[in-house]
Amino acid sequence: MNDAAFARAQRSIPGGVNSPVRAFRSVGGTPRFMVSATGPYITDSEGVQYVDLVSAWGPALLGHAHPQVVEAVQAAAARGLSFGASTPAETELAELVKERVQASGVAPIEKLRMVSTGTEATMTAIRLARGATGRSLIVKFAGHYHGHSDGLLAEAGSGVATLALPGSAGVTAETAAQTIVVPYNDRAALREVFAERGQDIAAIIMEAASANMGVVPPAPGFNASVVKLAHEYGALVIIDEVLTGFRVSSAGWWGLDNRGLAAVAPGTEPVPGAEAWEAGNHAVANSTGAISIPVGVYQPDLFTFGKVIGGGMPLAALGGRAELMDLLAPTGPVYQAGTLSGNPVALVAGIETLRLADQDVYRRVDAAAAIVSEATSNALTEAGVAHTVQRAGNLFSFAFSETAPTDYAAVLQQDAFRYPAFFHRMLDAGVSLPPSVYEAWFVSAAHDDEAIGRIIDALPAAARAAAAA
Ligand code: PMP
Repeated sequence: MNDAAFARAQRSIPGGVNSPVRAFRSVGGTPRFMVSATGPYITDSEGVQYVDLVSAWGPALLGHAHPQVVEAVQAAAARGLSFGASTPAETELAELVKERVQASGVAPIEKLRMVSTGTEATMTAIRLARGATGRSLIVKFAGHYHGHSDGLLAEAGSGVATLALPGSAGVTAETAAQTIVVPYNDRAALREVFAERGQDIAAIIMEAASANMGVVPPAPGFNASVVKLAHEYGALVIIDEVLTGFRVSSAGWWGLDNRGLAAVAPGTEPVPGAEAWEAGNHAVANSTGAISIPVGVYQPDLFTFGKVIGGGMPLAALGGRAELMDLLAPTGPVYQAGTLSGNPVALVAGIETLRLADQDVYRRVDAAAAIVSEATSNALTEAGVAHTVQRAGNLFSFAFSETAPTDYAAVLQQDAFRYPAFFHRMLDAGVSLPPSVYEAWFVSAAHDDEAIGRIIDALPAAARAAAAA
């Protein structure tokens, strides 16, 4: 039935999919057509159930179809699917986000604008940065993905990496020339770019921790140094937490980076590992064992959110200081709008998800990530497959290389050919992994012992298949 569904889809939808990575191009074979999902499991059109390590590409922090979220969504749907007018839930979600994204008394988000996708959030943040500074250039890092707007596809990760595309047809040379791409984790290259063109740079946009070329954590203190450099030149910093926001901690990656300084929602306990952070051991790094040092609070100017903030519904946001955010229409000259923005059904999914995401949830997600990543690494080692475990908080992936890649060029040099065999052996054994080596693995708070046990059981044969590839 998956074969038939895919064949039928391809007759009416380009490539049979509505987002390229879903097409299994880099792993081969037929994508599974999913029909339901609950907790850590997802079920395809043939009735086959998989332990899901995609988690809707991030949103399913609590697991799929959490009963309280579903109940809230059903109640909201019964009240009306869309109003096209202001609704109190918008303010409620904005307040929840502001409460959570704080550290050491620093509350970098005073106002938010809600949109429907991460792409819209980053696109609007870029326009806002240009409007605020009167400058035109944008700096991004190679391998970072910020959605599919014209200016941000240059050397992007995610599907652009999966399909080995240099960027995208249809983006004009003039637009592409407005984006400067710099190697990730390379402070010297960034300094050089600013020395040359700093007065024309409106903003740097960066993933808070990169997870769209596989996971590649920022080098110790890197984010703070980016903020410092940009601000020296009067440029803004857009920290893209679409993927990391509310997933790696209640205050996102920024909160993790600045923790030890209380990056938690009011009334909750410190994030797991805060003690280690306080002791100066912020172990966010990859399997090389590099350790971050506390960097103190750094303040990006704009944050973008998506995925978890909508709890699985189409909702995303950008936020920052009031003086900047008020430059958006109707208070300011930077235009942005959306028929479905602040959709009442999406809002309650987000609100309920954030409310349920207490420190116990993060502890469970962190624990599941630790167990699954370690078991996978052990299986690969056992099978003699050279690899590194790439970690950023509870996000992880595996690079098939001897040394941990720290930038996109290194990521692309790994033995990526080993992944399809590994992926398909896992899929055949009932574990759904991201269909590309360039994506993070996502666990949820619903990944219990049974689900994790099924993953662990499937690993040895998959690791052997990777070795034989
Ligand atoms: N930024 C980041 C960091 C992302 O990971 C993504 C999506 N994977 C986006 C932006 C774009 O979000 P969306 O797919 O909702 O447009």
